Amino acid sequence: MDNEKIYDVNDLMEAVENSNRNYDKEMIMKAYNLANEAHKGQVRKSGDPYIIHPIAVAMILIDLGMDTETIVASLLHDVVEDTNVTLSQIKKMFNDDVALIVDGVTKLRKIHIYTKEEQQAENVRKMLLAMAQDVRVIITKLADRLHNMRTLQYMSEQKQRDIAKETMDVYAPIAHRLGISGIKDELEDKSLRFLDPVAYAEIEKQLELRKDEREAFLNRIKAKISARIADEDIEKIAIFGRVKSIYGIYKKVYINGKDFDEIFDIYALRIIVNSVKECYNILGIVHDMFTPIPGRFKDYISMPKNNMYQSLHTTVLDEEEIPFEIQIRTWDMHYTAEYGIAAHWKYKEGISGKDKLEERISWVRQLLENQKESEDVQEIVRSIKTDIASDEVYVFTPTGHVITLPVGATAIDFAYAIHTEVGNKMVGAKADGRIVPIDFVVQTGMVIEVITSNAPGRGPSRDWLNIVKTSSARSKIRAWFKREKREENIIEGKAAFEKELRRSLINLPEDEMEKFVLDIVKRSKMNTADEFYAAIGYGGILLSKIMPRIREEYSKQYKHNQDIDLKQIAEKPKKSKKASGGVIVEGLDDCLIKFAKCCNPLPGDDIVGFVTRGYGVSIHKADCPNALSSMSTEENKSRWLSAHWQSAPLIHENFKSSLNICAEERAGFFAEVSITISNMHIPINSLSAKETKDGQINMQITLAITGLTQLNQVIANLKKIDGVISVERTAIQ
Ligand code: MN
Repeated sequence: MDNEKIYDVNDLMEAVENSNRNYDKEMIMKAYNLANEAHKGQVRKSGDPYIIHPIAVAMILIDLGMDTETIVASLLHDVVEDTNVTLSQIKKMFNDDVALIVDGVTKLRKIHIYTKEEQQAENVRKMLLAMAQDVRVIITKLADRLHNMRTLQYMSEQKQRDIAKETMDVYAPIAHRLGISGIKDELEDKSLRFLDPVAYAEIEKQLELRKDEREAFLNRIKAKISARIADEDIEKIAIFGRVKSIYGIYKKVYINGKDFDEIFDIYALRIIVNSVKECYNILGIVHDMFTPIPGRFKDYISMPKNNMYQSLHTTVLDEEEIPFEIQIRTWDMHYTAEYGIAAHWKYKEGISGKDKLEERISWVRQLLENQKESEDVQEIVRSIKTDIASDEVYVFTPTGHVITLPVGATAIDFAYAIHTEVGNKMVGAKADGRIVPIDFVVQTGMVIEVITSNAPGRGPSRDWLNIVKTSSARSKIRAWFKREKREENIIEGKAAFEKELRRSLINLPEDEMEKFVLDIVKRSKMNTADEFYAAIGYGGILLSKIMPRIREEYSKQYKHNQDIDLKQIAEKPKKSKKASGGVIVEGLDDCLIKFAKCCNPLPGDDIVGFVTRGYGVSIHKADCPNALSSMSTEENKSRWLSAHWQSAPLIHENFKSSLNICAEERAGFFAEVSITISNMHIPINSLSAKETKDGQINMQITLAITGLTQLNQVIANLKKIDGVISVERTAIQ
C-alpha cells in the first residue's frame, strides 16, 4: 500500500497562502499551536506524531474551500476528546462557531453504526441532527474519515473491516448526497480496498493494462473535437479525459455482472463550457461528429439529481465503433459536481447563496422527520442507503412535472411524493395510460397517473408499508394509521402484543398481568394501554425492539414465583380447581384430559369433551367428523359435554399439530419449508415426504404449536413458498 504523504505546519500555511481565500492566518496558526501543544507526545498507529492527522484533515478542508472556522475547528477536532483542552477554553480562545463544530465532531466520534449498543438508532439520529445543525460539522467529519481511510492500513484487520463498512454504508452516501463527489469516490475506493481486496486489485490491474491504449484514444478524440469547435465561437472551453472510479467499475462488473469491455464510461471525456446554451450546442456537434447510442443520452441539466448534480451525458461511437461517454456541463455545474455543498463556500459568489444551501440540507431534516417514529437501526441505515445513495428515476405527472424517486420506487411512492392526500386516497394507477397495479415499479420517463377515490372508509393498506421504497411515503402511511385507525390499531396492536407474549411464554394471572403490562406501557412513555397498543398497531413501537427487555423483566420479576407455582401444581394436582391441560369441561371440576388424535385440537379451536369409560375426558375439535357422528347417536349423546380453553392457562404446553403440504417437486423445497418454520421458532417433531405419481410432493409435518393463531400463521407462511399447492391440517400419523 502506498504511503500517505505527511504534511507539516509549513505545508499547511502554504496551502492557506495558495488558496486565494481570505483566511484568518493568525487564528489558524493559533489553533495549530494549541493542537500541537495539546497532542504533544501522542502518536498515531503509524508511529507518526499525532498532529499530522489534524493537519491533513485541515488541508483536505482547505482544498474544499471551507471557511476559517472550519479549518480552525478541524485542527482542534480531536483535542477535547484526547487532551486536557476543554470546549469552553476553545470558545474563549476562538469563537462560538469553532466550538460548535469541534463539539459536533467530538460527539460524532462516539457514534458507531455497527456496535451492539441498544442506542444504535439514537446514534444515527444524532449524527443526522449534527448535520442539520451545521453542515460544516459533517464536512469536517468527512475529511476526518477520509484521512483515517487513507491511513487505515495501520489498524487491526477487524477494525479495518468495521471502519470500511461503516464508511461505505454511511459516510460515502452522505458525501454523495452532499454532492462532494471527490470525497465520495475516494471513500468508496478506499473502503472497497479493505472490503474486497481481491476485486480491487483485479480492477486496478485491468485499468493499468489498458491505460496507454485508452489515453491515446482519448487524446485523439479530444483533438478531433477541439479542431471541430475551433470554428465555433466558444470561449473558456475545457476538455478533460476522466477515468471512472474503481468502485464505480466494481459495481458494474461485480454487482451487475457486466464484462469489463462492456463498460462504456470507464473512460470518458468531459467538456466544460460557459453557458447552458453552449452545452446543448456542443451536444449537437458531438452527435453530428459521432454516432450516438440510443437510450444512453441523459439530460441532468433539465432534471438535476437530488444532490444538485447537473450535466448532459451521452455515449457515442467513433468511426471504429468504439463506444465512449461524453459529459457536458457549465463551469458552475462542474464546481457543484466536484465540491457539492462545499462549493457554497468555495465559489460563494457563483452560487446563489443561502437558498441553495437550505435546499441541500433540507433532506437531512426530512430524513429526521421521517425517522422520528422508527426505532429500528436497520431501517435508518436502509433509508440512508436508498434515500441518499441510490440512483434516481425521474417520473412525470400528467401535467408534466418531474418527480424524482429512488430506483425501485412504486406508484404508491409516487402518489405520496405528489401529496399526502393523493397517497391516502389512492386506489389505482396508470403508467403511460395503461392500468398498472399500485405496487408497480416506476421507470424514468414514464407518465404516472394516480387514480384516487373520495369514498369514505378508503385509505392506505398496511401492506403498503412493506411495498413502498421511500421513507417519506412510509412515514406518511404510518401517520395515517396513527390518526385514522385508532380503534383498529388498538385491536391489531393488542393482538400482536399478546401473541408475542404467548410466544415468549409470558403468562400471569389476570391481575398480575395487568400490572405487568401497565409497567411496560409506562416504560414506553405512553399514558394508557390503548395508546401503547395503538402505537404497536401503526408501527410506532416495534415489538422486535421491546420484547427482549420485556422477557428479561418478566424472568426477573416472575420466573422465580412461577417456578414455585408450577412445582405446587405438580406436587398437588388434586388441589387445582381448574381442569388440567388448560381446558375447562363444563360440569367437571377436576378431570383427566387428553386430546383426541383424530383432530388434534389447539387452543383457539372450538372444542367439545367426551367422557370416556375410565380414561377421563377426551377433547375433540367441535367440527371433528368423529365427534359429530358420535354426538348424533342416542348411545353417546349424553356423554358429550361442552368445553372451552382456559383464558390464561397456568401451564404452558406445546400442542402437537400435523400439516399436510402438497407442492410441486423442485430443488430447495425442503430447505425452504424448514427455514420458514424455524424462522418462526417452532420446533419440528417429525417430517416426512413422498413423491406422488404426477411429480408432486406430499409432505407430512408435525409441529409443537402453542395454539390456533400460531398454526394459522404457519399455514399462511407455508402457502407463500414457491410451488406450494395446498396446506392442510391433518391427524397426526
Ligand atoms: Mn480525527
